[in-house]
Amino acid sequence: MLDQRLEAGLGQRREQDLYRRRRQVEHLRGAWLRVDGRDCRNFCSNDYLGLAGDRRVARAMSDALERWHAGSGAAHLITGHSSEHEALEEELADFVGRPRALLFSTGYMANMGTINALAGPDDRVFEDRLNHASLLDGGWLCRGGMERYDHADTADLATRLRSSEADHKLVVTDTVFSMDGDVAPLAELAATVAARDATLMVDDAHGVGVLGPQGGGAAREAGLGTDAVPVYVGTLGKALGTFGAFVAGSETLIEYLIQRARTYVYTTAPPPAVAAATRSALRIAREEGWRREHLDALVRRFQQGLRHLGLPVSSSRTPVQPLVVGEPAVALRLARALEGEGLLITAIRPPTVPAGTARLRVTFSAAHREADVDALLEALGRHLSGSCAPLTET
Ligand SMILES: *Cc1c(COP(=O)(O)O)cnc(C)c1O
Repeated sequence: MLDQRLEAGLGQRREQDLYRRRRQVEHLRGAWLRVDGRDCRNFCSNDYLGLAGDRRVARAMSDALERWHAGSGAAHLITGHSSEHEALEEELADFVGRPRALLFSTGYMANMGTINALAGPDDRVFEDRLNHASLLDGGWLCRGGMERYDHADTADLATRLRSSEADHKLVVTDTVFSMDGDVAPLAELAATVAARDATLMVDDAHGVGVLGPQGGGAAREAGLGTDAVPVYVGTLGKALGTFGAFVAGSETLIEYLIQRARTYVYTTAPPPAVAAATRSALRIAREEGWRREHLDALVRRFQQGLRHLGLPVSSSRTPVQPLVVGEPAVALRLARALEGEGLLITAIRPPTVPAGTARLRVTFSAAHREADVDALLEALGRHLSGSCAPLTET
């Protein structure tokens, strides 16, 4: 009975070209991977600084494994919180310019747990319409309710804040939007939020390590300290190349989350070796500025190449570069054709993005070389130039 009902749902997804399947990755090396038996250049990872494959990071992890063994054995509040976790928290706080940081097992959990610790039944959550699923899920769970303001629209947000009678108002936004690569107007948002006595929480999953001085993130780039952005979330599985997430803010915020964030309290602490690897990645991310410079140069090269080919260029200045093609079937066809040539780019389809905006989502990494960008451009030129009609400027 259950299976029959589920099969109907699966069939519908297949008909709409929305069915997803997993690939088996057999080998990962820098910007290359072997997937389903084929060697491909990878243009869909979030490994922006190329640290997931860094030997020094891997070595830090294996050294820590000798000392700590595999698991943490318990939640942070029991006996899972090691000196390795503590040191990483201090270094992360310093990195993003906040008094204190708190590790979470994943970004998904950091967002769900933080929003629900901060917004009670008499409060209200306001989210950008295009926020990441983990932020939206956190908002939907909030008993005081959640509403979405138009993407990056501070005027719409201001109107909504004005008409809300909630005790406390929590405004939540991605910094870099993961499907478009655009950056939220953080300074304007901070001003709007301050004028309404609300609280601003930002999710810098795609900004930390990439944006700002030494990679210290989008809030630092915008010059926004703890007063303007009291709740800052960063993740470790993207630019930092490892796994996990953190929330940074005041002493009081962190103490409060330790008591009240359910996704922090009721889950096993990540392995200490993962924290050790992240400490190594963090040092490299801060010190090796060439990684960010190289990444910027690759993005500029890609955009110039697209322009040269007469293809639409996204306004994104981040390593996330969308090519919107419209219909899911078109995105899928293009992704398959490119994969056939050893270029791996994910077709992103609804419900991850709004209907009619299916896209190829290209992401760059400091592990790419200029030759990788050129190979991609050459193939895009062949596959897209003829069928430019469905393309729309983003
Ligand atoms: C990837 C991502 C997350 C989730 O982080 P995980 O550590 O992978 O769970 C949260 N927010 C945004 C904006 C993301 O892109």
